[in-house]
Amino acid sequence: MFKSVSARWLWVAYLAVAASALGAFEAAWSSRQDQLWRGMVDAGRDAAREVSLSTRSARDAVYMLQGVANGLFRQPGIQMSEARRSQMVQRLDLPGTFVLMPNAQAVHRETRLNNSIYRDWPAFSLVGAMPARGSDLAREIEISLSLSPALIRAKTTQAAAVAVYYLSGQGFHLVYPPAQDDLQLFTTDMLQGVAYRSGLVASNPGRLPAWSAAYDDPKGNGLISTLAVPIDDADGHYRGVAAMDFQLDNLSQYLRRPALGIATAFILNEDERVIAHPTLVGVSTPQAPTLDDVAQSRGAAPGRWALLSTAPANNRLHLGAEEAAVFDIEATPWRYVLMVDRAELRLTALRGMWVEGCGVVVLLCLLAYAESRRRHAVVELRRKAAEEVLQAAPAPVAVMRQSDMSILVANEALMHLFDAPAHGDPETVAESAHRQLRELIQSLTEQTLSNVDTMANRPLLRADGSPLWLLVRCVPVVHEEEPAWLCSLTDVSALKQTRDQLEALATTDPLTGALNRRAVSEAAQAELRRARRHGKPIAALLLDIDHFKRVNDTHGHQAGDRVLQQVAAACGTQLREIDRFGRWGGEEFIVLLPETDLDGALVVAERVREAIASSNVAGDDGLPIPVTTSIGIASLSPHDEHLEALLARADAALYQAKHDGRNCVRAAAVPSAAGLASAASAQDAVEA
Ligand code: GH3
Ligand code: MG
Ligand code: MG
Repeated sequence: MFKSVSARWLWVAYLAVAASALGAFEAAWSSRQDQLWRGMVDAGRDAAREVSLSTRSARDAVYMLQGVANGLFRQPGIQMSEARRSQMVQRLDLPGTFVLMPNAQAVHRETRLNNSIYRDWPAFSLVGAMPARGSDLAREIEISLSLSPALIRAKTTQAAAVAVYYLSGQGFHLVYPPAQDDLQLFTTDMLQGVAYRSGLVASNPGRLPAWSAAYDDPKGNGLISTLAVPIDDADGHYRGVAAMDFQLDNLSQYLRRPALGIATAFILNEDERVIAHPTLVGVSTPQAPTLDDVAQSRGAAPGRWALLSTAPANNRLHLGAEEAAVFDIEATPWRYVLMVDRAELRLTALRGMWVEGCGVVVLLCLLAYAESRRRHAVVELRRKAAEEVLQAAPAPVAVMRQSDMSILVANEALMHLFDAPAHGDPETVAESAHRQLRELIQSLTEQTLSNVDTMANRPLLRADGSPLWLLVRCVPVVHEEEPAWLCSLTDVSALKQTRDQLEALATTDPLTGALNRRAVSEAAQAELRRARRHGKPIAALLLDIDHFKRVNDTHGHQAGDRVLQQVAAACGTQLREIDRFGRWGGEEFIVLLPETDLDGALVVAERVREAIASSNVAGDDGLPIPVTTSIGIASLSPHDEHLEALLARADAALYQAKHDGRNCVRAAAVPSAAGLASAASAQDAVEA
């Protein structure tokens, strides 16, 4: 009772320890995921802040252009001196500066930008005729040309700026740097472009720098966004825009950082387009992909990520299989997005937890080891208990391994059967007992083993050499995790002895020790059947002591008995082991000679007759009693149906011997088929 309760509590303890170890591991795992997530979010926030700084710097540069341009417009006296005008004209006339004259068709200098001196100067282009001196447009051109140093400064301070320009609503523009393979010709299309439209006061009444939608740069700089700001003159009239084309590839440095780990970062604009994505870098696309495109490329359903453009910043968002965080990029309509595949996050966290994992595995191994030790101890205990019970059992019992029939247990009661007191040393006795038992049980078939009490077909030997007859019964069992036989053995030696005695009594003639008539008759029938089955010859002798009545009358009945004993003994000396000898009745004996034909039988009969005649039996008076016998022989004929037929012929031969003067041997002729038929008809006639 105590044991079973403690085993149950042990299991509860095991489970508690294992559960708390797994629980602790799970907690450590989830905190590790949080830690990883926080690290990535911090890196994302930092990156977003740096994007803000970079865009703010671009904004500042554009503000600076606005300030300079507005300032120039506010200087009422700005007028080009003669020298400056001619310088300007000269410049306009020089390579690197392009003037469109007159009106419609664009014409430019063939020389283009082959003069390196002017390559670093903004390009200027104009549609239509050169305005009259002092005109409003001429003044605006002068002002825009004066803006050139500021354009150059704005461009050189901004790594992401691919071009900085002034775009007038009046039909000209000034751009830095001048394109090498493009003339930067002013066209009216420019006034329809995003750059101009995003800077218009109509769409930008606050006159703030405005970011355009992303578009593919015709000059091959990939996706760009234009940051444009309106320029007013001194009267507050809108004149044009100062703008910077911002290369979005430049943002890739903020999307690819080791601290972002397994997170994917990208930048989303207000049109739900992804304007910077690690996979977009260096790729020339006509348009930034939509959020849905990117979502689908990551296996998410379209529309699933819409939350990214609306959700409050700095929060953790659950989007299907992914976790996300968004950060607003200050002073832009953009958002910095961070996405992590949750399964990957779990896996990455797990990879970093080998110490904890090893700890849990070691703990579980220890538990398993403890349990296996406990089980082993319990099994050992049970095995010992079972063995003690077997050893103490009052009945002889053995356990044998089925595979090799080796004796695993032989209890004391069993060993006691073999061990007659004070015979040999116990080890030898045990060894002999084990060997004999193994041979005995091996000799039994499995069916005999497991079904019934089986009597051994031969005795085993005790230590003192006396026979030990055993009754065996086995049941299959599992002993120490192996199939075995549990055999109970019963000593039936005494019973066997009694049975043998009874059997002898029932089959033996008590006076002569020969088989009695019933036993010899049964043995003769069996021999006859066998001879017939194998086509072997067999012969029968009938012996009758001559004038035995006279022996009785002369020497007394007891002497007669001695004569009978002597005759039987004398016969025994002349016969083989396979021959059957019995007392047929009174002073008549019978001998069956298997595998012996008539000639052979004659020889044996003659020998027997002589042995009897020369035997010595003394009467009560000490004088020898002469004893002779007459013997009739018959051999088996194929026509003999029964023993009686054979014996009838032997009897007839015996009669003939008596008739011929006794103390002689006569054989019956083997009957022919014809003879048999006539004999049968004679018999029929007698019976009739
Ligand atoms: P024959 O030569 O013709 O055989 O003469 P026989 O005297 O032997 O004739 P019979 O067969 O008539 O005699 C048999 C006698 O054997 C009769 C019986 O008293 C005697 N006898 C039968 N059984 C026993 C026995 O167990 N002990 C003794 N002592 N005599 C027995
Ligand atoms: Mg007789
Ligand atoms: Mg006789």
